[in-house]
Amino acid sequence: MSSQTIPLSRTEFGDAEARAVADVLASGWVTQGPKVAEFERIVAERVGATHAVATTSCTTALHLGLLAAGVGPGDEVICPSYSFIATANAVLYTGATPVFADIDTRTWNIDPRDVESRITSKTRAVLAVHQVGLAADLRGLEAALRPGIALVEDAACAIGSTYEGRPIGSHGHTVCFSFHPRKSISTGEGGMLTTNDDAVARHVRLLRSHGASVSDLERHRAHGVVFEEYRELGYNYRMPDIQGAIGIEQMKRLDDLLARRRAVAERYNAAFREMDQIETSAEPGNARHTYQSYLIRLRPSYGVDRDEMIRRLVEMGISCRRGIPPIHLEPLYRHRCGAVSLPVTESVSAESVFLPMFASLPQTDQDRVIDAVISIVTG
Ligand SMILES: *Cc1c(COP(=O)(O)O)cnc(C)c1O
Repeated sequence: MSSQTIPLSRTEFGDAEARAVADVLASGWVTQGPKVAEFERIVAERVGATHAVATTSCTTALHLGLLAAGVGPGDEVICPSYSFIATANAVLYTGATPVFADIDTRTWNIDPRDVESRITSKTRAVLAVHQVGLAADLRGLEAALRPGIALVEDAACAIGSTYEGRPIGSHGHTVCFSFHPRKSISTGEGGMLTTNDDAVARHVRLLRSHGASVSDLERHRAHGVVFEEYRELGYNYRMPDIQGAIGIEQMKRLDDLLARRRAVAERYNAAFREMDQIETSAEPGNARHTYQSYLIRLRPSYGVDRDEMIRRLVEMGISCRRGIPPIHLEPLYRHRCGAVSLPVTESVSAESVFLPMFASLPQTDQDRVIDAVISIVTG
């Protein structure tokens, strides 16, 4: 048995990514330009959307997606609390108020019935998260919407995920992906917004570059004889071509990387489903999980303490993390949103643990994780 610590996650970069970066540096055009445009075309085609707009992160894509949906001060946006804090922060950036909905007990994704019960005359959007790569119940959410309420998808973890047999990105909403190193593919930092709506795409392209009516690349190609104009407040959320070039290479490997993650998850699932003490993530028949992360939930009736499990795994050289901490319990949100009761969110969060999950995790290390978890829950 090796004593090396098994990391929680790892990026999967190789020579192709290094060469792509070197080529961009040599070209002299490093900011948003032809590589980003090509990366956008590749992602749009892969996820089945008409338009893709690259940004500096999923967080900034969510900010622009909500603005383009007309969200602003005085509005409410319903989102899960069981998510990374970026989900709710993007709502705050627009001046709107996040309203937290609870999650489903099996999929751990936002519960459409709870969403419906929280709709008010101020609700402007529902921000659904495909948590750790499993699609939320989009059909249920669409049925819960009222006219004038947009559905925006936080697909930070869900590139390559499918719902009703079609990729996340193809269901006709505004969808935001992340390329942070913790996700299935990475550009260092980076994000992408996809949409089938021409007006939304045009608006988001303006907003990501200070609202300039002419892009840097267009001005460059016109040899400086066109002048830009600024009509509304925008941002600098442009992805550099250095990162776009990495994204192009990562997209070539997406299917292989996802297949390898799935193989890891299937071995974990097979081992842990035998154990009454452990609940594994559900995968409803209409959704295909990408396992951006792998979570187990400890069934409380067996008395295995979650924090104790984390301590013991770390002692055994296995990196792990507590499950997703609820946003509504963070001091920032306690102050802004007051007390909210979200019982499913709170218990799933308190009872779950992230285990090592990445495409190149060797089988011997997978076995070490499985053996360690089983010895702790049966010990
Ligand atoms: C990672 C993550 C984000 C933020 O993505 P960035 O690209 O780091 O901004 C947002 N939402 C969820 C659900 C995430 O997991």
